[in-house]
Amino acid sequence: MAVDPLIELLGVNKYYGGLHVLRDIDLTVGKGEVVVVVGPSGSGKSTLCRTINRLETVESGTITLDGEPLPQEGKALARLRAEVGMVFQSFNLFAHRTVLQNVSLAQVKVRRRTKDDADRRSRELLDRVGLLAQADKYPAQLSGGQQQRVAIARALAMDPKAMLFDEPTSALDPEMINEVLEVMRQLARDGMTMVVVTHEMGFARASAHRVVFMADGRIVEDRTPEEFFTAPRSERAKDFLSKIL
Ligand code: ADP
Ligand code: MG
Repeated sequence: MAVDPLIELLGVNKYYGGLHVLRDIDLTVGKGEVVVVVGPSGSGKSTLCRTINRLETVESGTITLDGEPLPQEGKALARLRAEVGMVFQSFNLFAHRTVLQNVSLAQVKVRRRTKDDADRRSRELLDRVGLLAQADKYPAQLSGGQQQRVAIARALAMDPKAMLFDEPTSALDPEMINEVLEVMRQLARDGMTMVVVTHEMGFARASAHRVVFMADGRIVEDRTPEEFFTAPRSERAKDFLSKIL
């Protein structure tokens, strides 16, 4: 895929105390590209996501977003961080706010929209994830799959340049996984730049442009889904695939 880079990591290293969790990470995600990140538990996938969003500092290396280096802290960081939407395994909705309020709040606070503008945008996005009818409910009244779709709508409401998903379906009952994946597949089709940590290999095969395989804090393979699934090169990847497929 022609690479007009949106996210670029170069020589990124990260430690937790003496534990070297990201090792010499070079990763470029092009505009409109969907990159699925897979690998054994503890290989550094979540840390990679948090690093891209600067929820973690790094010891060395550079991270650029749309050509701008990510600052370590401060207002400039907050502004750039808002350009990347993040969806986690746990949905973290505000329990005492309605669905609509959950999607609107940050638009008013961070994007400085009026409440009316924010609510209008929220309704558009809730419609897009199939939840317009639930706008006035509270999170506890929704299923896990519905709550995760609200979390996606909330992230999209910031008009991010890219979306990071860290195991977005891992906490869901099996029958709810597909409704969340469908929203993600649609986003991918619409050209959203996405980094997705997931064990859903069907999603990877259908929607990813590239699969990045991590082990022990390193990127071991970075290839098309077709190549990765049919002919993994490394022993680590072969071993990983033999366990999950
Ligand atoms: P993955 O998402 O691939 O399972 P993580 O990025 O969560 O892996 O973790 C990578 C490594 O860093 C693991 O060894 C994990 O135990 C360790 N780790 C993650 N977060 C922290 C933290 N906040 N403090 C110390 N060690 C951590
Ligand atoms: Mg993780």
